[in-house]
Amino acid sequence: MPRCIEWGEERHQECERTEDQGYNECAREEDRGYADCCTWWPCNWLCDAWVWISNVVCVSWTWMSNVVCVSWTWISTAACVAWDFVVTIVSAILTTIESILGWILSGVAAIIELILSIPGLGTVLRWLLNLVTFLVVSMVAVGDLILGAVGIRPEKTLRICPVILRDENGEQTAEVEGVVAVLQLAADVFKRDANIRLIPSRPFNYSTGFEGAPQVDESWIHIDSRSSPTEVLDAGDSVANEFGIVGSILQMKMTSLCFYGAWRRITGFGAPITVFFIRNTLPNSSGRSLWITDYVFVNGNTTEIFTSGLQRNARTAAHEIAHSCSLWHECIDNDPTNLMGVSGSCDPVGTLAADTDNPILYDWQALLMRGSKHVSYF
Ligand SMILES: [Zn+2]
Repeated sequence: MPRCIEWGEERHQECERTEDQGYNECAREEDRGYADCCTWWPCNWLCDAWVWISNVVCVSWTWMSNVVCVSWTWISTAACVAWDFVVTIVSAILTTIESILGWILSGVAAIIELILSIPGLGTVLRWLLNLVTFLVVSMVAVGDLILGAVGIRPEKTLRICPVILRDENGEQTAEVEGVVAVLQLAADVFKRDANIRLIPSRPFNYSTGFEGAPQVDESWIHIDSRSSPTEVLDAGDSVANEFGIVGSILQMKMTSLCFYGAWRRITGFGAPITVFFIRNTLPNSSGRSLWITDYVFVNGNTTEIFTSGLQRNARTAAHEIAHSCSLWHECIDNDPTNLMGVSGSCDPVGTLAADTDNPILYDWQALLMRGSKHVSYF
């Protein structure tokens, strides 16, 4: 069932709950009113009349609010489904065209990316470019943000290109099975809470909002055929690394292994996020996102959820991808269930805020994410 309709039903129930609460509140007010009334005539008579009228107003108001709430839910849900329908058709056409012509566009973009992979100068240029595309897309996304805020959230897509690196001995930094599992977690959370479909950046990949969460499989994953140097495998302090040879190597690996999305990266239109599974990041950290880059790091060991029980790290890929989509660490009420909640950053004691394999996104986080340049309708 389309997320639009599911969400409409949830909000419909919310309207009913609010209505019930409203009637209960009216009844309580009425009882209190009568009880507080004076006992002598004509005061008691006037008071009773006043309480009665107040109650009629209260009940009418509650009823009207419910009518407005339910009507709006119907209208916004219908608009959401209609938009999903239009997007399904238009995106099928555009995806077909992109699958044929995208290669040429990406060929041109890859040449630009080669320049952007020059250490130092290239770093500055690609940060500038990413900042500009971020600002442009953010301005365009305002309209969509407003629609989302009033309840119209048709499905959008988020492209990713997962890459498993190889160490000095040619061993993979992560097992495919585990990578599929952590990406599936991301796909489920983004679809459920933000109506964002995670899709692999590749040709002829058709999708529609009329389907449930996507099924991640090994065909999504790229395995680097060559070994990576130690400084890339253990890319810890990534800001400094960005200016050096590590940033340069990662940039070139992104261009070659995730070539298909190059034109989107350069234009910032639904720019794919490359997820590098590396050997190690900083101590006490299972991943890293710089926001300004088109790639994130995820520790390969976060994918060992089947063998070593590192369940609490299973959300790292989703967490880092969300950083790239402009979400920051979230500590409201020290909520341990939030995807952006982080162990230790909410309180000095460092309760296991990240200890959940079913993280959620708040509503405003979902909206912000939908406005990201990595997330688009087409
Ligand atoms: Zn984080």
